[in-house]
Amino acid sequence: MSAITLPHRTEMLTAFASRDASYDGVFVTAVRTTGIFCRPTCTARKPRPENVEFYADAQGALLAGYRPCKRCSPMTPAGQAPEWADLLLRAVEADPAHRWTDTDLRSLDLDPGRVRRWFQRHHGMTFHGYHRARRLGLALGRLNQGEALTQAGFAHGFESDSGFREAFSRLFGEPPGRGRHRNVAFLTRVRTPLGPMIAGATTAGICLLEFADRPMLETQLERVRSRLGCATAPGDHEHLAHLKEELDGYFAGRLERFSVPLVVAGTPFQTAVWRQLGRIPYGSTTDYQAIATAIGKPAARRAVGRANGDNRLAILLPCHRVVGRDGTLTGYGGGLWRKRRLLELESTPTPDAG
Ligand SMILES: [Zn+2]
Repeated sequence: MSAITLPHRTEMLTAFASRDASYDGVFVTAVRTTGIFCRPTCTARKPRPENVEFYADAQGALLAGYRPCKRCSPMTPAGQAPEWADLLLRAVEADPAHRWTDTDLRSLDLDPGRVRRWFQRHHGMTFHGYHRARRLGLALGRLNQGEALTQAGFAHGFESDSGFREAFSRLFGEPPGRGRHRNVAFLTRVRTPLGPMIAGATTAGICLLEFADRPMLETQLERVRSRLGCATAPGDHEHLAHLKEELDGYFAGRLERFSVPLVVAGTPFQTAVWRQLGRIPYGSTTDYQAIATAIGKPAARRAVGRANGDNRLAILLPCHRVVGRDGTLTGYGGGLWRKRRLLELESTPTPDAG
């Protein structure tokens, strides 16, 4: 088994110091002076940097003789929702119109503050914010099916028409009347061995797959909204379930080609480049010039590079398979260490199919 590439030590120290949740699952930290290993997000007091060692996973730290921290439980798979959060999310899906109060949470033995912090960290919003966005996403779906505004609002637990309008406008940036016939891209977090990703799907297919810590993420979400003329809301979709299954297979080295439908929507030039990316075989690499030539624009090497950087479907349209002419890795939006790990994964012989 080949050694796994880790991000730079300075990058990991910064992530550890700031308890950056996007690195959860990317590495664990082990402290020489205590013999304990932790997640990057551990809330325990931070040790001195010179005493910290980094491992790609819990197994590595265990093999080096460290024991798991009791506070952050680094043996639980990264990004996996704790049991209580899982139950709560399922309760929300079972009855999205129910209006959750702090009293409801306490009756389930959940501390509202802890719930709020977990949702803030993992979904970038409070539980109530998440729940409201979820209800709005569903209400928007019903509006698109031609249901009357008031009905759609009431069905999802908004008592007054004005309350519904206001919440809707805040989330989607326009009043609900104009949301009619608009598409919704449902967004979810996907955990991967390279850190969490954000995936988006419309009824047509997957329209977004980006690493959650990528600085471009906000811009890309904006582009999804304007390019596809759709709103975005947290939620689930059969395409997202399909994608998660395929990503698991890909990272396990069992899957070389994705079959989940993709929404490839850019300028005609971008679309041509992106489709060409989709033709680079698993396990091989190419360069910008070869792509420019393949799409019949041999002089457009630089523009190909830009279109490559604007790819919204990381891994699915494998822009990580584009390297310099001399084989150097060149840039990658998700960070060079991720590009290196993806190429390592693809060059490792596939385990015997069972
Ligand atoms: Zn810890």
